[in-house]
Amino acid sequence: MLQQAEKRLKEYFGYTSFRKGQKEIIESVLKGKDTLAIMPTGGGKSICYQVPALLMDGMTIVISPLISLMKDQVDALTSIGISSTFINSSLTAKEVKERIAEIEEGAYKILYIAPERLEVESFRTFLLTMNVSMVAVDEAHCISQWGHDFRPSYRNIKRMITAFVKKPLILALTATATKEVTEDICELLNISASSTYVTGFARDNLTFNVIKGENKRDYIMRYVKANRDQAGIIYAATRKEVDDLSQFLKKNGIKAGKYHAGLAEHERAEQQDQFLFDQLDVMVATNAFGMGINKSNVRFVIHHNLPKNIEAYYQEAGRAGRDGEKSECAILFAAQDIQLQKFLIEQSTLSPDKKVHEYQKLQQMVDLCHTEKCLQTYIIEYFGETTPHAPCGRCMNCTDTRSKIDVTREALMIFSCVKRMGERFGKTLVAQVLKGSNNKRINQFGFHKLSTYSLMKEKTEKQIVDLIDFLIAEGYLSLTNDKYPVLMLSNKAREVIVDKLQIFKKELVKIKSIEVNDDLFERLKLVRRELSVQLGVPPYIIFSDSSLRDMSSKCPTTENEFLQVKGVAKTKLEHYGEKFISAICEFMNVERTSSDQLQGRVAADYIVSDKTASHLISYQLFQDGKSIKEISESRGLSVITVQNHLIRAVEEGNPIEWSEIMTEAQEALIAEKIIELGTDMLKPLKEALPEDIDYFQIKAAVCKLKLKSLK
Ligand code: ADP
Ligand code: ZN
Repeated sequence: MLQQAEKRLKEYFGYTSFRKGQKEIIESVLKGKDTLAIMPTGGGKSICYQVPALLMDGMTIVISPLISLMKDQVDALTSIGISSTFINSSLTAKEVKERIAEIEEGAYKILYIAPERLEVESFRTFLLTMNVSMVAVDEAHCISQWGHDFRPSYRNIKRMITAFVKKPLILALTATATKEVTEDICELLNISASSTYVTGFARDNLTFNVIKGENKRDYIMRYVKANRDQAGIIYAATRKEVDDLSQFLKKNGIKAGKYHAGLAEHERAEQQDQFLFDQLDVMVATNAFGMGINKSNVRFVIHHNLPKNIEAYYQEAGRAGRDGEKSECAILFAAQDIQLQKFLIEQSTLSPDKKVHEYQKLQQMVDLCHTEKCLQTYIIEYFGETTPHAPCGRCMNCTDTRSKIDVTREALMIFSCVKRMGERFGKTLVAQVLKGSNNKRINQFGFHKLSTYSLMKEKTEKQIVDLIDFLIAEGYLSLTNDKYPVLMLSNKAREVIVDKLQIFKKELVKIKSIEVNDDLFERLKLVRRELSVQLGVPPYIIFSDSSLRDMSSKCPTTENEFLQVKGVAKTKLEHYGEKFISAICEFMNVERTSSDQLQGRVAADYIVSDKTASHLISYQLFQDGKSIKEISESRGLSVITVQNHLIRAVEEGNPIEWSEIMTEAQEALIAEKIIELGTDMLKPLKEALPEDIDYFQIKAAVCKLKLKSLK
């Protein structure tokens, strides 16, 4: 059975193998067991029900609270040739009727519905007449009141399932793995603990950072400038902050949008669409944004304010890099944000018990910001993973080598000034006094006569404010919760004064761009964007960034080669192959034969491969002394294809006379550049080498090195 599943994975999704957790989950489902799958955001939950759905005879129902996501999922499935549809409140009554008629005719393999739909009796009755083989409960934590998104209508699911004459299989899926939630799901859906699968919570493509004591806006500006043209989300705590920050970014020339519950529905939809279609780079949003976002090429998620707990944080941060490409997450920590979260808990309508629970979770979130341990390890241990993990080697705590600067003297000046001003003023006025500004308020209060007046005159006012912010973030100073927050000294500051402790501040965080430059990749992104506009489908539905990356390193120039690209299967080849292959040929300066000829050729290629694999025929001819050009002409294949055939044959262990491909001198040159630049991308290698060394020779040298290292 699993083999069948793997076949479908390749045939429809263009992926060669299941990820570790997917395999176990799909196996359990295919054995007919009700199953709970716990996987982090981006882990690949959808495939766990989409592939089994293809192997079962009836229809699979997917229950999801995310209405906006349904259309996306259905679009994505349609684009790979899987018949699916959705029914939710975004449709008119007439549309619903039409879809129901189509469902009755058996037109769909997968049906998405919102849980509220189960409250409609006529709909329930209709479902019971259908052959439903499986019910996938997405975002299953919504069933639990301990989860962070309790949805009462989820409680109808079990009743619906038990009403079927032939009970459908249940597959519950979530990214929330706390013990209470897991137990709740199992109990409420009758899933046995032994059919619960928790896959690794680590996200190997994400880098976690906590940024402390830096000016938040400065950091964000530096960050988005270093990562222009990359999509990212910046979460802020309040609507006002979202408005201000998005305005600020726009003023500074960044394509930023905004999203919060205070906007009209059509404004929200418009902003979201622009972001999905890569027309906005940065989305500044409250946590209202993202539940329904499937966009896989989000390259960074920055938290402008402290999130309320680690579950919420990991879910939001996890929206980065769902395509598996390198992405970054950062929390901009400031101690005063803790007050805001406490305030929100206090104001909530939660029971006293639940409030205590929420305070504890907030404290764990704060601890995460202060730990010196690997951040990734800290998070997965929080989620209860017990298998020992090596530090990730990517996060802030694993890589921080910044030197520390002693700022005790400046801090003491600030403390003294705050004290002398009676701990009754905000940070701006304190900074102005230290700077020695000449303004009305200072004169009015007589602060120009203080001994601390103009004590820091060699610094700019902003530098002084930044230092004050750092001291707040580190807990030496506190800010009151008033409309005009007042600066006060904390016990920690008194300890510095009395016990003569030192205060160190780290240098500014260095920001590197997330992606390495790759011209072909950029070119393919443009092709994708043009297609997206033409077809009205978001770019990431056409191809994920990881598919484009793979394309730019494999440089496929024939349809057969195109099929080898990660995420490409027959439907995508038919829809988009031509456009991308042409762009690649143009980029690599190779001639593209007319598509008629090409189709004939590919067909021939396929037929031959049933007997002797096509690449081996090319290889044999080469061994018989034919030149690549001769083989290309006699077989009606492009030169590049023949070259790729040879490489593949050699990779499979067939010997070759290397000197016929490159001279020793050329090989040495290429090897030297490989050491410098790595083998991930061929383009930079090509550019670093003399003109006369071609892609084929580079590929050959890479292949030879790889074979050597295997020995
Ligand atoms: P989740 O719902 O768990 O957040 P998704 O189902 O959206 O995650 O999958 C995240 C990404 O991983 C998608 O782009 C998906 O196509 C990709 N993916 C899933 N399974 C595999 C696999 N076996 N091989 C390669 N990519 C995969
Ligand atoms: Zn780490």
